[in-house]
Amino acid sequence: MKEITVIGAGIVGIVTAIYLQREGHRVTVVDRQSPGEGTSFGNAGSVAPGSIVPVAMPGTLKQVPKWLSDPLGPLTLSWRQLPFMLPWFLHFQRACNPDRVQRAAAVLRSLNAPSVDAYVDLLGAAGAPELLRREGMLHVYKTEAGFKASAFGRRLRADNGCAMELVDADKIRELAPGLSPGYRWGFNLLDNAHVRSPQGVVQALAAHFKHKGGMLIRANVTDIRCDAGAGVQLHTDDVVLTAECVVIAAGYASAKLAAKLGTKVLLAPERGYHIEIPGAVTAQHCPVTDGESRFVATPMAGGLRIAGTSEFQAADAAPNWARAETLAKLAEGMFPGIKVENYSRWMGVRPSTPDSSPVIGRSPRHRQVLFAFGHGHWGLMSAPVTGQLVADLVADRTPRIDLSPFRPERFSLY
Ligand SMILES: Cc1cc2nc3c(=O)[nH]c(=O)nc-3n(C[C@H](O)[C@H](O)[C@H](O)COP(=O)(O)OP(=O)(O)OC[C@H]3O[C@@H](n4cnc5c(N)ncnc54)[C@H](O)[C@@H]3O)c2cc1C
Repeated sequence: MKEITVIGAGIVGIVTAIYLQREGHRVTVVDRQSPGEGTSFGNAGSVAPGSIVPVAMPGTLKQVPKWLSDPLGPLTLSWRQLPFMLPWFLHFQRACNPDRVQRAAAVLRSLNAPSVDAYVDLLGAAGAPELLRREGMLHVYKTEAGFKASAFGRRLRADNGCAMELVDADKIRELAPGLSPGYRWGFNLLDNAHVRSPQGVVQALAAHFKHKGGMLIRANVTDIRCDAGAGVQLHTDDVVLTAECVVIAAGYASAKLAAKLGTKVLLAPERGYHIEIPGAVTAQHCPVTDGESRFVATPMAGGLRIAGTSEFQAADAAPNWARAETLAKLAEGMFPGIKVENYSRWMGVRPSTPDSSPVIGRSPRHRQVLFAFGHGHWGLMSAPVTGQLVADLVADRTPRIDLSPFRPERFSLY
């Protein structure tokens, strides 16, 4: 049994804390906010074993000028950030190579395939099974050309055993009656599930962790020190906390904490937005992704959530609410029958690596510190396997899947 402190009460930190607790360790979670107030608050809720197509794809870079020039497009970039992000973009460019993409898809599959069953278990134990729905996930297209452009991604899914069926206009209408008739091509990822409140999931799991004897501390970690024989010291605004072992699961802020231990990882602040429309009835049970405009509409407990956009901008810059208004316009086009009004707006920072794989493993310099961050677009779905891998490492067991694609040192290798 070890004394372990996890930094971060987002979905990755809380799920990791539960798996460590299940192995008999004494676990404390430290966060400067309440559980689930970070990026895990506002995601699109997909727990998607079939979401294995990395962001860097062959042809992605060719689309960038078109996306940047379209006011309703999925991508924006602060040119002022470009010099800081250049190394990230160079690694991203390499990740677009078709062989690398195939390897990245298999890696994402190994992380995401067990996620639905894991959440059935975790939420069942936490007494909140109703937060998870197993209804699949529709990807829809208005143009045949757009649908054809998704062929490589569909092949990656098929090659990796993702359950999928093609859908025509009639089937789309049957599964999502509120959708615009303009959507005529698509596919359904049959094994996918979604949660009805991403923050509710973190809160339910945090309450369960506490109920089982775990400790939650509200504090801002400002420094980490590993002195021989003194354990790991976490300096916070008020006190110094000591632990035998520390897990850094602080989302985007993890890069700064890893740097304090001498490890440079490439994380970009890839900001995303959502709007949530209370009372919008679309008669669909599953999330629907517009594969061309790249946003997703998920039925949530609080209303219809429209989420998406990639904005490369300083993490702490003020939100650009024009991006949220873009989502509102896209929602009007997707669901002509609903009133897009009285909605809430949210911005969050995806902790994104250039190769779409998270950073999971021991700190190269300090064995008693473990890294569990960088989950980009897939933190909700990848959290369970991440937590299980961390538990394997703490127990000195052979990890259940190959950890080499996640090693923290990989960014300094080329
Ligand atoms: C628009 C959008 C849609 C998305 N949709 C999906 C989806 O459908 N499915 C999916 O799987 N993923 C999705 N994601 C991605 C997912 O939300 C993230 O990958 C995930 O939330 C990351 O979780 P995390 O626990 O690593 O980080 P966070 O949730 O950000 O948690 C990190 C925590 O660390 C704390 N912290 C940071 N620094 C410190 C410090 N120094 N001291 C103390 N505490 C600290 C923060 O307060 C925070 O609570 C989406 C993201 C966005 C933006």
